[in-house]
Amino acid sequence: MADLTLDAVTKVFEDGEDEIVAVDDVSVEIRDGEFLVLVGPSGCGKSTTLRMIAGLETITDGEIRLGDDVLNDVRTQDRDIAMVFQSYALYPHLSARRNMSFGLEESTDLSQTDIDERVTEVASMMGISDLLDRKPGQLSGGQQQRVALGRAIVRDPEVFLMDEPLSNLDAKLRAEMRTELQQLQHQLDVTTVYVTHDQTEAMTMSDRIAVMNDGRLQQVGPPLELYHEPTNLFVAEFIGEPSMNFLSGRREGSSFVTDRIEYPFSETVADAVEDAEDVIVGIRPEDVAIRDEAGDDPAHEFEMTATVVEPMGNENVVHLEFPGETTGTEDLVAITEGMREVGENESVTVHLPEETIHVFDTATGEALHARQLELDPQALRL
Ligand code: ATP
Repeated sequence: MADLTLDAVTKVFEDGEDEIVAVDDVSVEIRDGEFLVLVGPSGCGKSTTLRMIAGLETITDGEIRLGDDVLNDVRTQDRDIAMVFQSYALYPHLSARRNMSFGLEESTDLSQTDIDERVTEVASMMGISDLLDRKPGQLSGGQQQRVALGRAIVRDPEVFLMDEPLSNLDAKLRAEMRTELQQLQHQLDVTTVYVTHDQTEAMTMSDRIAVMNDGRLQQVGPPLELYHEPTNLFVAEFIGEPSMNFLSGRREGSSFVTDRIEYPFSETVADAVEDAEDVIVGIRPEDVAIRDEAGDDPAHEFEMTATVVEPMGNENVVHLEFPGETTGTEDLVAITEGMREVGENESVTVHLPEETIHVFDTATGEALHARQLELDPQALRL
């Protein structure tokens, strides 16, 4: 068992005269047994990164290492890495059993008895013992994905690579498989890199998340660290559903000013943002508090109108607008408890607690200040 290291890895595709930098100087160390989720929007370079680790794509620059071994020029089949794809990639004419055993028969010296034993054991772990004699066409999507995972597990590799393995499943099954896969990974304790564009998968499954955008790594850290201490606007917006609210404005003295509101900063925040002029204030929907009447923090309370209320049962998602002409840029989304009644077009007092805000530099997108946490910040990193 060993750490997997990406050291300044770059991939440039030649497209006629053009060069496409798909992965740009990515460095990350994935610890032995760690579950790292690589997340980002379509085209950000996730799959290319995974394919370079697998050896399916050459590396333009940089180094990929497993322990002390440099993998750059090692053939795919010699890398001790198993990959699971979105498409399952099962052989349609082979039974589930043969799909799982085929790779071992081809690439190892194991006896047929040992192979059969391993397939039986993994099939039982995956809950597919009854399905081993069926062909993929006779299996549901979820069952096919279990076979595909089983095929990767029987190989007992050093590293699992998974490229959106759950995205062909319906929402309920996806949620089930998410938990199952996470438990399985812990049980097997195999270093795993899992690619998805789904931030919920990233938040719920990973030990650490690596967020990519435009070929570049934006931030790597445990889910709660990225949620509470995003390093820039991109991560702040990408992680969390509904997304963080953003208000664009400028710093004037020690206040934040938009066309609609003036919002005084505490000394701590004012100090953190003193060099910036145009800034964006971010606040998570669950931190936007709706009140029936004014509270005890009037400087951070505003009259707003609830324009749309989406009851979700356990909570309501409330869309809020500042009074005046609608600009569409200063609206907020709040999450309130399910039992709290907010009517559409109702005027409410909205409290934006100062200790919960994030402030970003508009020009660079960099975070200048992150929300205060009651938790010891170290607790996020465990
Ligand atoms: P998705 O979530 O849509 O799969 P992704 O984050 O996995 O996206 P990649 O498939 O890694 O993104 O692609 C990254 C960039 O590299 C994209 O701009 C893509 O168009 C480009 N790219 C990928 N493969 C090739 C190729 N073989 N030739 C040229 N450009 C490529």
